Amino acid sequence: MDTSPPPSDFIRDIIAADIASGRYGGRVVTRFPPEPNGYLHIGHAKSICLNFGIAAENAGAVCHLRFDDTNPAAEDMEFVESIKADLRWLGFDWGEHLYFASDYFDRLYEYALRLIELGYAYVCDLSSEEVRANRGTLTEAGNDSPYRERSIAENLDLFARMKAGEFDNGSRTLRAKIDMASPVIVMRDPVLYRIQKMPHYRAGGTWSIYPMYDFAHCLSDSIERVTHSLCTLEFADNRALYDWVLEKLEIPSPPRQIEFARLNLSHTVMSKRILRCLVDEGHVDGWDDPRMPTISGMRRRGYPPSAIRKFCEGVGIARSYNLVQAEQLEAAVREELNRSAPRVMGVLDPLRVVIENYPEGPGEEFEAINNPEDDSAGTRKVPFSRVLYIEKADFMEDPPRKFYRLAPGREVRLRYAYFITCIEVIKDEQGEVVELRCSYDPESYGGNSPDGRKVKATLHWVSAAHAVEAEFRLYGRLLKEADPATAGAAEDMSQLIDPESLRCVAACPVEPGLATAVAGTVYQFERIGYFCVDRDSAPGTPVFNRTVGLRDTWARMQKAGKG
Ligand code: ATP
Ligand code: MG
Repeated sequence: MDTSPPPSDFIRDIIAADIASGRYGGRVVTRFPPEPNGYLHIGHAKSICLNFGIAAENAGAVCHLRFDDTNPAAEDMEFVESIKADLRWLGFDWGEHLYFASDYFDRLYEYALRLIELGYAYVCDLSSEEVRANRGTLTEAGNDSPYRERSIAENLDLFARMKAGEFDNGSRTLRAKIDMASPVIVMRDPVLYRIQKMPHYRAGGTWSIYPMYDFAHCLSDSIERVTHSLCTLEFADNRALYDWVLEKLEIPSPPRQIEFARLNLSHTVMSKRILRCLVDEGHVDGWDDPRMPTISGMRRRGYPPSAIRKFCEGVGIARSYNLVQAEQLEAAVREELNRSAPRVMGVLDPLRVVIENYPEGPGEEFEAINNPEDDSAGTRKVPFSRVLYIEKADFMEDPPRKFYRLAPGREVRLRYAYFITCIEVIKDEQGEVVELRCSYDPESYGGNSPDGRKVKATLHWVSAAHAVEAEFRLYGRLLKEADPATAGAAEDMSQLIDPESLRCVAACPVEPGLATAVAGTVYQFERIGYFCVDRDSAPGTPVFNRTVGLRDTWARMQKAGKG
């Protein structure tokens, strides 16, 4: 895919050491374990690049895609399919290694029976509030459950009846029998199974009990013979339980859990709960709204998968909290698109220009370069005629000193076409400029200076007679606040969203070749920015989503020492 050296970080160091020492017999198996309760986001992409990246870098290593689907409440096949599609689009392949934790329900149940038989688990009749109230604190031990000393026979009987659906939701749980005084609160007799009488999207109505994450995850890893189970830092305390379950069940060559810091990105959120809320309450146009930090949103916005991968690599893997600036992702996108995006011309805020000395009629065509960064992209023909549109912002009647674009009496270049000079300004009754009358120099054909005289500005333009009308959706950043932590506490999602995050502009003249622009293609509109053809486009009425502007604020921040 690219030739840069493979990344290095503390996790890759641990894996290299495990290979060298022969732990796991030199095998490396990682896994990416999404819960199918939402769409993938850029935070997941970091985990994906890490897990699949490690598999790609080590001979014989593989990365499993495992749906961690042990909670029937919000899981759905729609999410399974979207996650697979997004992973493929990002450029990763799980090959034959597609797994579902729900396929292990029978085996997990057997493991739970085994723990009971060994005296390491018991059925507890306390409610979840009572369990919480007896858990203790960081400085105080918890209290033993009154049901802790039940006999193995009674536990086996009650657990079987929990499974058979004899008891109500929440009336009983299966708990590990560890230590209510453990300094690690996760180890204070954690719940392993709960009663939840709800059909599962894959297992159907078979189960009345479902395993908890801490029980299901380590065992799913061991069933698949995963070697390195990489997860985010909030699971650091859970590692003790991960190891305990595997140890008590005498799992040979147990997988090891290693934690890294999750990705946080400014001006957006990674919480699936909040993202789902934005979708369900209609604050955004679905999971793939181009403002969403989802992979599908970024795809619709025009972010190339290679840019997302490079960004994830650039962010790196560490163990401390960090907030990555949105500019860093935008810079990666811009860098990639500068190489790949064909150039076109379009006008977002049109001002009519009539070239008085240019003949009426069909006009002529100029040769335009498709991509100055890529000779193989070739050229195209762009029609030119007597009436054109330029950008309103490219004209000032009374220009300040550093404004070099068009002004009364001033000459500028129209890209690829001619030099023009403004000779008259037409205004409406309100005094607003509605049209410029200009002259052109026929000797400046192709935009080349006929006699070495210089112009200080080159403008983009569209021939009015040939223009196609496009809609532009100008996307900004999702949230008003840079720090996503503020989003967690918000009551009203609509208050969080930056009102500037979407502005639609209709009927913008663009060059005629764009009439049949194909959804998903990203163009650079010269002097404006990168835009992706939206799926709402139809022949003759293209819709463009702003991917990112041309301005490289990231590079400037870095220069200023703030990067
Ligand atoms: P939930 O809040 O529903 O638990 P989640 O973001 O943890 O959501 P999962 O589907 O459980 O979602 O995540 C799959 C994998 O992606 C996990 O291994 C998780 O650690 C990793 N992951 C999730 N968010 C991030 C993030 N922001 N940065 C890095 N990895 C992440
Ligand atoms: Mg999770």
